[in-house]
Amino acid sequence: MFYDPLTIWSFTTFSTLLIAGVLLVSWIMWPGENALGYWGTAFVLTTMGLAGLAARGVVPGFVSIELSNAALLLAWGLGWNGFRAFDRRRPVMLLPAVLIAAWLAICQLPGFRDDAVARMWVMLAFTALLVVLSIRELYRRRADRLVSRRLAMGLLAVHLFTMFARPGLLLLGVATVNVEGNVLLDPSLMAYAFELVAFQLLMAFCVIGMVRERRERHFEEAALVDDLTGLLNRRGFQARTREVAAGGGPVAVLVLDLDRFKAINDVYGHAAGDEVLCLFAQVLRNNLRGTDIVARLGGEEFGIVLPGADVGTAREIAERIRLAFRQAGEGLPMREARLSASIGIAVGELPALAPVEALSVLQERADMALYAAKQGGRDRVMVHRPGDWNAGQMGGERRAASPHS
Ligand code: GH3
Ligand code: MG
Ligand code: MG
Repeated sequence: MFYDPLTIWSFTTFSTLLIAGVLLVSWIMWPGENALGYWGTAFVLTTMGLAGLAARGVVPGFVSIELSNAALLLAWGLGWNGFRAFDRRRPVMLLPAVLIAAWLAICQLPGFRDDAVARMWVMLAFTALLVVLSIRELYRRRADRLVSRRLAMGLLAVHLFTMFARPGLLLLGVATVNVEGNVLLDPSLMAYAFELVAFQLLMAFCVIGMVRERRERHFEEAALVDDLTGLLNRRGFQARTREVAAGGGPVAVLVLDLDRFKAINDVYGHAAGDEVLCLFAQVLRNNLRGTDIVARLGGEEFGIVLPGADVGTAREIAERIRLAFRQAGEGLPMREARLSASIGIAVGELPALAPVEALSVLQERADMALYAAKQGGRDRVMVHRPGDWNAGQMGGERRAASPHS
């Protein structure tokens, strides 16, 4: 024979151990990611199982048949549970335990233990079950659209298919079992040694990839969210509004600013100020729909984009927010401060060409309207009218305001 089977299986076993090491080191790097612990341990058990199988004749039969295959079953069970752990689902070790117990029991049946083909079928059935469960586990949370999750599913499916190739060939009579005491010395198993190395290497790459991809996505998303209020931050606002703008169509932009907020900080302290900011964020959430975009643009300034809204709707929503905030403020210990907000609105139709630029023009106009609302005495909603090209032209409203403000 061209290859020495024992050398090939030694190489396969050793590479499995190396992959286990890579997974366990990854777990040390990301201790919260217990899935890596499951997968790393699964590869350690696979190493032991393969070594036990290869040592047939050198170690007692109980070790190389019963225990080695039990180790392989446990490895697949841990692999399946690794996928569960990845999706933050509780571990289910009962099924692997039942399969292992069943395996050990079946091995005690007279005649079974010495029948290599029968052993192969039982192990194949048990392993296939765990592979199918693993695929199902990955499929369950496919909505997260992780590329590595899909790759892992594909890889498991290919492995499942190749697992059935040898028994298939045996059934068709194309391959014959030539065991000579050690199943791994069977030439028809040689291709499996290579398939196993490739599968394991790619699988480890996929599962580490899943952890990495999810972490990266988490940090990317966190970079778009304001820590204090949990709303989008300015960057998140820009990203989300750009998405919405791409669709074109009518849109309303609101810029909101808390009135005399500095005084709240000065009188009641910064923590109280933060509390007010959170309260305002909650008022915004309560009065908007999921399709609306709402963000804390910085300090005590907030932005809202209402896709599809006309002037009437935008004004109605703004008024609702203004009144709700005033009302909410009455329940706070610092109610003497009389919480209020000023809101500027600009409404327009985003053209198919350059919608993002048109949106930023609307935002500038909403800013001007906000300025006019402040000048007009605060605690009010102002709409930028077409033709109000700068804050100066909105002075009409300013002049109409009471001198006190
Ligand atoms: P106006 O009615 O004109 O908007 O007056 P104002 O006091 O609200 O506006 P000004 O811009 O003078 O003050 C804003 C204050 O917001 C100043 C700053 O200390 C405070 N601020 C900014 N960010 C935070 C924050 O994260 N937490 C708290 N507590 N205060 C903040
Ligand atoms: Mg303010
Ligand atoms: Mg401000």
